[in-house]
Amino acid sequence: MSQSKLFGTNGIRGTVNKELTPEMAAKAGGAIGTFFGKKNLLVGHDARTSGPMFSRALIAGLTAAGCKVLFAGMAPTPALQFAIKNHKMGGGVIITASHNPPEYNGIKVVWSDGIEISHEQENEIENIYFQNKEKLAEWNQLGYMREISEINDEYVQAVKKQVNVAKIAQKHFHVVIDGANSVGGITGPVLIRDLGCKISTLNANIDGTFPGRMPEPRPENLQELAQIVKALGADLGVAFDGDADRSIFVDETGQIHMGDKTFGVVLKQFLLDNPNSEVVTPVSSSTLIKDIAETYKGKLVWTKVGSVTVSQKMKEVNAKLGGEENGGVFYGPHQSVRDGAMTTALILNIMARTAKKLSELVADQPQYFIEKGKTECTEDKKPKVLEKLLEQSKGMNINTLDGVKIWFPDKSVILVRPSGTEPAYRMYAEAKTPTRAKQLIKEYTEKLEKILKTI
Ligand code: MG
Repeated sequence: MSQSKLFGTNGIRGTVNKELTPEMAAKAGGAIGTFFGKKNLLVGHDARTSGPMFSRALIAGLTAAGCKVLFAGMAPTPALQFAIKNHKMGGGVIITASHNPPEYNGIKVVWSDGIEISHEQENEIENIYFQNKEKLAEWNQLGYMREISEINDEYVQAVKKQVNVAKIAQKHFHVVIDGANSVGGITGPVLIRDLGCKISTLNANIDGTFPGRMPEPRPENLQELAQIVKALGADLGVAFDGDADRSIFVDETGQIHMGDKTFGVVLKQFLLDNPNSEVVTPVSSSTLIKDIAETYKGKLVWTKVGSVTVSQKMKEVNAKLGGEENGGVFYGPHQSVRDGAMTTALILNIMARTAKKLSELVADQPQYFIEKGKTECTEDKKPKVLEKLLEQSKGMNINTLDGVKIWFPDKSVILVRPSGTEPAYRMYAEAKTPTRAKQLIKEYTEKLEKILKTI
């Protein structure tokens, strides 16, 4: 981490005792506590081995700054976010590195509405941290920590309120849950059992070394789940990421469906129930989402890529649904943040209401083929490349919220955007045939290389 930068695209994140140390967590606690100004804060962590260590260091800093801390221990990120709102806290801090490997951890700061703080607010904390402006309390004004144990249960009860439990229970679904050896294994099985389903579990034992699989729910990490769903003849498989705010589903045939498709399933039902509603999604989402929104009379609001941006936009336009291609679904009636357990309950609710299997719900959707690409580009050249690319895209149907997205008349699409984490441009193409998607990646890789030679 550089001298002036603490927060990256996903809060504070780094490798344990190398990029992120307990000393830093304690100092960050002092800065975060100063930022909040002696408010009541909730703190919790995911299943990583370093979670308790970082929580305690952070809480030392928070209480030194005079904050009163409720310590929830191990819980999914969405359960902690829900608890912050539900217990009317001034805010909260979550120790998690989400989908990163076990040697990572991170610090995510959340506002009183359960949504992560804005980048402007992160800058305020950074200033306090780097300029040593922490306001530490006098000995008789120190904050304190109290433990709270019931938040996971409150969260499960709240999720259940959003769906028709009796209707789901009538179907006696068999669900296989892959908890990634992390916090999804705490609330996922309890919720799905409470919905009257038969459950089988995989990687549901808590183990912060993540021995079962890596916590990113990508297809290559979910092969075992897919095989087990098929072998057991189960109705559904669900895999959570490391902090259980995202969920990826497997249908009864063992097919893994990426987030766009399952968000599409949720979107269609939501628009049938709430026509003419606003729905928020980043520009990286599939054309599938645009098609479904148009067919079922939804108003799509595009944002930059990033879950915080989606949450903030939902608040701004008062939208009740948001979704990302990575398996993040934001269901406003519960909370406007990504929530893996809520998404699972919604999918089961739709399967029960429509009497359709997940494979059938997905087969109803328009089909697109996806190709991805990457071109190296140093940070200093990124803005110039975008400028040139925009010049060359004049007169085309484009969106420039995040990089450039171009819609072609044959319904194919390319998104070219500077990576937030690497010195590179990322490309994402979608088309009605695999050949066209491949051709678009090739064409734009060449275009970028040409531009890079001229600047
Ligand atoms: Mg996550």
